[in-house]
Amino acid sequence: MESSVKEILVVGSGAMGRQIGMSAAVAGFTTKVYDISAESVKAAEQDMRKWLDGRISKGRLTSAEAEDAWGRLEFTTELEPAAANAELVIEAATEKLEIKKSIFSQLDELTPKHAILATNSSTLGSSTVADATGRPEQVCNMHFFNPALVMKAVEIVRHERTSDRTVETVSKVVRDMGKSPILLNKEIPGFVANRLMGAVRDEALALLAGEVASLEDIDTAAKDALGYPMGPFELMDLVGLDVTYLIRQAAFEQTGDSKDLPHPLLQEKYEAGQFGRKSGKGWYDYE
Ligand code: NAD
Repeated sequence: MESSVKEILVVGSGAMGRQIGMSAAVAGFTTKVYDISAESVKAAEQDMRKWLDGRISKGRLTSAEAEDAWGRLEFTTELEPAAANAELVIEAATEKLEIKKSIFSQLDELTPKHAILATNSSTLGSSTVADATGRPEQVCNMHFFNPALVMKAVEIVRHERTSDRTVETVSKVVRDMGKSPILLNKEIPGFVANRLMGAVRDEALALLAGEVASLEDIDTAAKDALGYPMGPFELMDLVGLDVTYLIRQAAFEQTGDSKDLPHPLLQEKYEAGQFGRKSGKGWYDYE
């Protein structure tokens, strides 16, 4: 490990936080995963132990490697001791600005002065939380993709005052985790990957609305002509049409640009409660 960071604190042990924590521990970092909810911490610990046992039985990790990683990972509901030696914090708590601001202000009090404070938020640029701290130059986004144990990309988004040193340190950590850093020099809603995905999704919706091709054939074009693992309609069903709709709505509220409004076909699905796989019906039928 070349990184100067040795100890990482992950705040939030939900879908993202637990897997970010496990990825860090497997990569050799001393890692603490903190959550305000004891229930979530317990579920995260059980889930990650199961994942680790799966890696052993598939021969991806030796028992010794797995136990070493497990020994470096701690789940906790006590923030103060967990923050005391953290050199990098990755905040992956509930997507609410008020919650994040309060976490960042607590972290500013509790972590060593040199610690970098990053947020995994998909929609909130770190400039929205930087002022809750006395160290805005040590604040940035570190945006992992779901599932974080599998997906290699991590978008590092700097805000106007993020220092070069912060970007360099965080990029090194990402590489040490065996992942690929993608640096954004400015904040923009959707960052890079989700904007690319959004452009394909919007074009797919326009083609469908224009009755150019069926949604099944548009998905086939994405997979068999462009080599995508999934078609845009299949992907929307997997992510959830509610999530897709709400992200779009939030982007519109940030930019006020009518181009960012959810497509009318997406709005119809949302209003009909057809959210995709999770509701049994979306673009496709799962019942
Ligand atoms: P989640 O709901 O699964 O988990 C959030 C966790 O935060 C919960 O366990 C909750 O108890 C905890 N929490 C709430 N308030 C807290 C506090 N004050 N201190 C500590 N913990 C607190 O959410 P998630 O899907 O893991 O998303 C977390 C973050 O990751 C969000 O900012 C989201 O934008 C981002 N993100 C999510 C995805 C995704 O696909 N789910 C992908 C990339 C980024």
